[in-house]
Amino acid sequence: QTSMDIITIRKDFPILEREVNGQPLVYLDNAATSQTPRQVINTIVDYYERYNANIHRGVHSLSQEATDAYEIARKKIQEHFNIGHSHEVIFTSGTTHSINLVATGFTSFLKKGDEVLVSAMEHHSNIVPWQMLCERTGATLKVIPMNLEGELVMEEYHQLLSEKTKLVFCNHVSNALGTINPIQEIIDAAHKVGAAVLIDGAQAAAHIQADLKALDVDFYTVSAHKMCGPTGVGILYGKEEWLKKLPPYQGGGEMIAEVTFEKTTYADLPHKFEAGTPNICGGIAFGAALDYINSIGMNAIAQYEDELVQYATEQLLTIEGLRIYGTAKRKTSVISFNIDGIHPYDIGTILDKLGIAVRTGHHCAQPIMDFYQIPGTVRASFSFYNTKEEVDKLVEGVKRARNMLL
Ligand code: PMP
Repeated sequence: QTSMDIITIRKDFPILEREVNGQPLVYLDNAATSQTPRQVINTIVDYYERYNANIHRGVHSLSQEATDAYEIARKKIQEHFNIGHSHEVIFTSGTTHSINLVATGFTSFLKKGDEVLVSAMEHHSNIVPWQMLCERTGATLKVIPMNLEGELVMEEYHQLLSEKTKLVFCNHVSNALGTINPIQEIIDAAHKVGAAVLIDGAQAAAHIQADLKALDVDFYTVSAHKMCGPTGVGILYGKEEWLKKLPPYQGGGEMIAEVTFEKTTYADLPHKFEAGTPNICGGIAFGAALDYINSIGMNAIAQYEDELVQYATEQLLTIEGLRIYGTAKRKTSVISFNIDGIHPYDIGTILDKLGIAVRTGHHCAQPIMDFYQIPGTVRASFSFYNTKEEVDKLVEGVKRARNMLL
C-alpha cells in the first residue's frame, strides 16, 4: 500500500463528486482524457479574471504578466521533462499538432528510397501524418510488428533498421494496450544508423517520468489534457539542431523576425513554430497541472497506479470468458478486454447506466484491432485518483453486463 492519501486527493477534483445516471461517477476513461483538479481550474479562472491579455507584443502590464506566466509555464515543462533549453519546448495544441508539425517539416528531407518505421501499436495520429509524408515524398513506411502479448518484436525492429531508415516513430505507452515500449533501445538503435526518432508521449506522460536528456530522443510529444491539464494545449520537444533545420509549420504573426513583400525572415526558437495567438491560458494551466502532479510525485503515482492495475487485472480475470489484450511485462494504467460472445459497446452501455465511464471501440488504433481480429475492446484506464472500491464497482458492473447479455 502506498502512502498516497486518495481521499484527500479526490477532494481536489470537483467532477468526482458528480452523479451519472443516478450513480456516483466512476471515471475510468483517463487514457482518453484526465480530470482537472481545482488548482488547475483556479489557475484558468484567475487568468481570465485578472490578466487576460495577448502575449509577447504588448508593453502594457497585463500583457507583461501574461507573457511572464506563459514563459514560466514553458520553464516548468522544461524542468519536468528534463529538457536542455526552454526554446526546445514548442507549445502546440497537443500531440496531434506536434506530430503533424514534424511530419510536414520532414517533407524536404526525404526522397524516394528512404524508409520510415512505425510501430504496429500506434494511435492514428502517429500513423496518418507519416503516411501523408510518404505520399508527398515517395518514402516507404515499414511496420515494426507486435506479438500477441502486445509487445513490439524487437528482433524484427533491429532487422528493419538500415542506412535507408531516416525516421522512427513509436509511442512511449500504447493507449489501447498500456504497453510500455522499450524506447531507449529503439532510440539508441535508430541513432546507430543515423535515423531520427519521434516518441509519442501522449499516453505515458501522466504515468511515467520521462527524462528527455537521458533518452537522447530527437522529438517527444505531450498533450496536457492527459495529465490533469486543459484540452487544446501540449508540447513538441525537439532537439535544438532539428528545430533549427525544420521549416516553420504555419506562417503568421509571432513567428517572424522581419516581413517585407519581398522576403520574410523567421523568429528564433521557439517562436518560429508558434504562429498566431497561442492557447495562452492553456499553457499557463499546463504549468499548474505539472505543479499539481509533482506535489503528489510521479513515483508515488506510478507505484499506486501499478497496484490498481494489478488488482483490477486479477479481479477481472475471475470473470468467465474475459480476455485481456495487452499482457506485456511492462505496462501501465490501461486494461483492454472483451468477454466471449459480447460486443464491447454493449458492455460499455450497461456500465454507463451504472455511472461507470469506460471507453469502447478501436481507441484510434485500428491496426491493433485488426491484429487481434476484433472490432474493438472495452478499455478501463486508471489514474491516481481512482480507488480499489471503484475497481470493485467495475468488476461488479462487468459481471452484471455479462449476466444480462449472455
Ligand atoms: N497518441 C496517443 C498514444 C494517444 O493516446 C493520443 C490521445 N488518445 C494521441 C496520440 C492524440 O492526442 P491528442 O488527441 O491530444 O492530440
